[in-house]
Amino acid sequence: HATLPTPDHTRVFTVSNQKGGVGKTTTTVNIGAALARSGARVLVIDLDPQGNASTALGVEHHSDVPSVYDVLIDDFPLADVVQQSPEFPTLFCAPSTIHLAGAEIELVSQVAREHRLRTALEQFIQDAEEPFHYVLIDCPPSLGLLTINAFVAAKEVLIPIQCEYYALEGLSQLLSSIQLIQRHLNPGLAVSTILLTMYDGRTNLAQQVAQDVRDHFSGQVLESVIPRAVRISEAPSFGQSVISYDPTSLGAVSYLEAAAEIANRWAAGSSDTPDTNHPE
Ligand code: ADP
Ligand code: MG
Repeated sequence: HATLPTPDHTRVFTVSNQKGGVGKTTTTVNIGAALARSGARVLVIDLDPQGNASTALGVEHHSDVPSVYDVLIDDFPLADVVQQSPEFPTLFCAPSTIHLAGAEIELVSQVAREHRLRTALEQFIQDAEEPFHYVLIDCPPSLGLLTINAFVAAKEVLIPIQCEYYALEGLSQLLSSIQLIQRHLNPGLAVSTILLTMYDGRTNLAQQVAQDVRDHFSGQVLESVIPRAVRISEAPSFGQSVISYDPTSLGAVSYLEAAAEIANRWAAGSSDTPDTNHPE
């Protein structure tokens, strides 16, 4: 397996888009697995009460399993809930359980409610025996306190965009929310990476949307595009990323390429301090 450059600090991404079904979880899991396959140490944090990332990574997340809920609400150290994924020895997951559904409400009355994940993650990174290269946070499709915790804990935002008609409309709403977070809670946050997902190059619409996104966000959009591919949608039911499920499939190869770009861009010195001024 090709080795990729590893960053000299932990790159923390939140994978966000307030739309559901755009490929957030699929992207979190497969970029995480692709980076881990190259030998990087990767932590996926499942912040979605649906627990789809935990399922796709094959880690236990039934209601008795210690989870991100315990970290956010009961001050458990993150290290106490992290599990190793069965897929790659350097891939780890902090699972979500059904309890997380209540955390959105329970957080409202907590002290430092927006900073709880950040505090836990900083401690985890500091205490880790071997350094982590990447943390990827999978967000629910809403802009509630769970997603805000992810925005505050992260340095980089990875936005998956599905190449369809309303893609750009939802995007401006997401960017305004990110600007609010930058202003009030996390000035260091930047949209470093945009990934076009579920791309069907046979349709004019997909080509047009992809071009519009590239025109607006030239520096952030990855060259690699994720095609709509059956193998990608099958993999989670086997508790696997597509990277292990079918490593030579088009879906796996495209996620491997996207992950390589993410790693190489940092090495080229661009993505650590991305342009935070979004053209309107
Ligand atoms: P989100 O987390 O944004 O809600 P998901 O990653 O769960 O979105 O994807 C939504 C659905 O689309 C899932 O059933 C997933 O398996 C499927 N899917 C995601 N990406 C692809 C793809 N590139 N090709 C085919 N199906 C995909
Ligand atoms: Mg999801």
